[in-house]
Order: sequence, then structure tokens, then C-alpha cells
Amino acid sequence: MGAQGLDGSFFIALINPGITLVFAGAFFLLWKHQPQRSYILQLSAAMACISMGFLFQFLPLPLGLPTLKLVSNLSLFAGATLLFSGILRRYDRKPPWLALAAMTVPQLAAFVWFLYGHPDLTWRIYLINFTFGTVALLLVCELRAVQRRHLVDNVLIGIFLFWGLQFFPRPLVMHWIEGPYLTYEEYLTSLYWLTTTASAAVIMLMAALALITAITLDVMAQLKAESETDPLSQLLNRRGFEQQMSARIADVTRTCVPTALIVCDIDHFKSVNDRFGHGGGDRVIERFAACLRAAAEGQHLAGRIGGEEFALLLENADATTARLFAEGVRIAFSNTRVPGIPEGTRLTASFGVAETGPGETVESLFRRADKTLYEAKNMGRDRVRVAAMTVADETDFILPIMGRPDLPLQHFPA
Ligand code: GH3
Ligand code: MG
Ligand code: MG
Repeated sequence: MGAQGLDGSFFIALINPGITLVFAGAFFLLWKHQPQRSYILQLSAAMACISMGFLFQFLPLPLGLPTLKLVSNLSLFAGATLLFSGILRRYDRKPPWLALAAMTVPQLAAFVWFLYGHPDLTWRIYLINFTFGTVALLLVCELRAVQRRHLVDNVLIGIFLFWGLQFFPRPLVMHWIEGPYLTYEEYLTSLYWLTTTASAAVIMLMAALALITAITLDVMAQLKAESETDPLSQLLNRRGFEQQMSARIADVTRTCVPTALIVCDIDHFKSVNDRFGHGGGDRVIERFAACLRAAAEGQHLAGRIGGEEFALLLENADATTARLFAEGVRIAFSNTRVPGIPEGTRLTASFGVAETGPGETVESLFRRADKTLYEAKNMGRDRVRVAAMTVADETDFILPIMGRPDLPLQHFPA
């Protein structure tokens, strides 16, 4: 190899350790800001291992060539495995360690044989490429099993699919074009080595950028969810509820699926605070929210839209279904026990129900449901009132057994 060739290959060889080291640092910084996402630290460690692996390829360490090659490739393999399991941990998936070991360890063992037992550079090239190709394609299979994928997840799948596939034909084609590499000098100036370095650099860049984009989107989604969640009740706050409701109402007015809004308000809540303190009031809010959540079963939108005011949007439900639903929540809440609130204390809530009509908007639906809630309060509280499509249809709904007339503030035991 001439001095020029050595210089050129030396600088080209620095590209991959450099890129991966920069990304190891970038992932580390990201993890410092998001320490609860420990998989990001794993991605940083993966990039650091891969960087080391690339460096060992040509560092003049006094280990002897075969050992240096072994250390280099094992370091690359450790990095690929960390990357593999780190990416899967982002999706809360356990890496299939057994399948990974079964598919890679025999290839690595054969690699070691062709390093020490029966040295053969060509076979080593094939085996190490096939090993990394196997890891990448196994990752693709695992990622394809993820149910709810976004664009960035599909981009990651595409990158690793391309990366995995190129490991198989490229060494074979290069070997066919260039013939066997007899010495490392020949190998380091070969087209094979150039394409290996270039493809690794491009794909590392693409994979790391896609991962950073995915992390950014995860963080943004978490911030959005937090900004739309009420910390006390763990339900949607008013903003979150209205935003999500707008999207759903737009859908249901187009598809004409019956949908109903229930607004509810805890009765005489001010007196709960007065008697049991703000902390006691908070626990009652938590309890009411738990009743709503249990009833909604994750299928319906549930939100805390004011201090002690809540809303539920029931899709595929007409006014009759919604009022039975509301009645269920009313009964569940009136039978609930709240820690710190003496047994026998009556806790009740009132409900207003409105079903979507033609040309319904979020505002008009809320207005109609609010109006019936107000009527439920005026008619004695602890009841469900349904808004009619026409005023004449308006009904007061209350189960005969559980229904009770207006209970004034004094009904709390002294
Ligand atoms: P009504 O039956 O007519 O609904 O009467 P009410 O006492 O429930 O209604 P009112 O609007 O008079 O009082 C609501 C009270 O809720 C006033 C406010 O201090 C209290 N509140 C609002 N947010 C919270 C909260 O987050 N925690 C607690 N503990 N109290 C709250
Ligand atoms: Mg109230
Ligand atoms: Mg209120």
C-alpha cells in the first residue's frame, strides 16, 4: 500500500468511529434530560461500543492482528446487540435473546475458527456480514410486530431492513468483482472496504437521526399528554377534553353515529370542603374521577372540565344509553366510600345528558348538556336529566329506588 493509499484509508477509517462517537455523546445528553427513558442511555452505550469497534479495526495496539480483529468485531457485535435491545425497549418489547443467540453465536464461533483455527479472510468477511445482517433483520421482524406504529417507526423499519439486506449480497458481489483478499493491505484498499465504510456511515447517520427524531416525538407526545391531563383526577383537563371531543364530534357528525355528552357536577361540594377541608374535597374529586374512569373503561373520553365538574363523551350511544350510563355512575358514586370522610356522609352528583343532533357543534352540545345539568340541580340534585332534541321532550330521569328528592346541604351528618 502506498503512503497516499494509507493516508486515504486512514482518514476514511476515522469517519465511522467519529460519527458514532458524536451520536454516543448526543444520546448521552438526551438521556441526561430524560433519565426515566433508560433505553436512551443504552443507545449511547451502543454507539460508544460501535465507535470502539471501528477504532480497533485499525488502531496499532500490541494485541496481535487476530486478537485485534476479534476485539474489534466483538465490540461491534456488542454495540449492535445494545442497539437492537435499546430500540426494542423503546417499544416496551423484550428482545428475543434466545433467537438472537441461536442465529448469531454459531456464526461468531465460525468467525473465530477462521481467525485462529484456519485463518481465512474471505470467510471471516462473509460471516461477520451475515451476523450483522441477521441482527438487523431480526430487529425488523420484532419492529413489524409492534401494533401501533407511526411514520417514524416505519422509517426505522425501512432503514434496518435496507441495512440488514445489504449485508448479504454486498460481500458476495465485491468478492466476485475483486477476487479474494489475501492480505489486510489489499483488503483495506479494496472496493469492499470502501463500500463497507460508506454504507455503515450513511446507515449509522440515518438510523441515529431517525432514533433522535423518534425520541423527540416521544417527548413531545408526553408533554402534550401532560398538558392535557389533570394531575388530581388523572383525567383529561378541559383543554384536552375539548380538543379530543372536537375531533370526535367532527367524525360523528360526518358518519351520523349517535354520540352523547354527559356533564356532571358534585353536589354541595363547597360544603364538603367546609366540613372536611380542601384535602377531603380533593379525595372526593379523586373518587368521583375513579367512578368515571371505571365506567368509561378507556373507551370513552372522560375529563375534569372544572373544579368539581366532569364530562364524558359516549360514542355509539344515544340519549337513552347515555342516561343509563350516567345513572350507573350516579349510583356508584353515591355508594362509594372516601377515606377520611365519615361513613354515612352523603356524596351525590347531578348529571346532564345531551345527544348529538344534526349540525351539532362542540359548543351547542355542551350548551344543551350544561342546561340540563343546571335543571337537574334545580330539580333537587342527585339525578340525571336528559336534554331533548326538542324542548317538549325533555325528561328528568331518576331510578325509582335510588332517586330522592332535593336534599339540602344539611343532610350531611353533623
Ligand atoms: P352545587 O351542588 O350547586 O354544585 O354546589 P357546589 O357547592 O358543589 O358548587 P359551588 O360552585 O358553589 O362550589 C364548588 C366548590 O368547589 C368551590 C371551590 O372552592 C371548590 N373547588 C374547586 N376546585 C377544587 C379542587 O380542586 N379541590 C377542592 N377541594 N375544591 C375545589
Ligand atoms: Mg357542585
Ligand atoms: Mg360546579
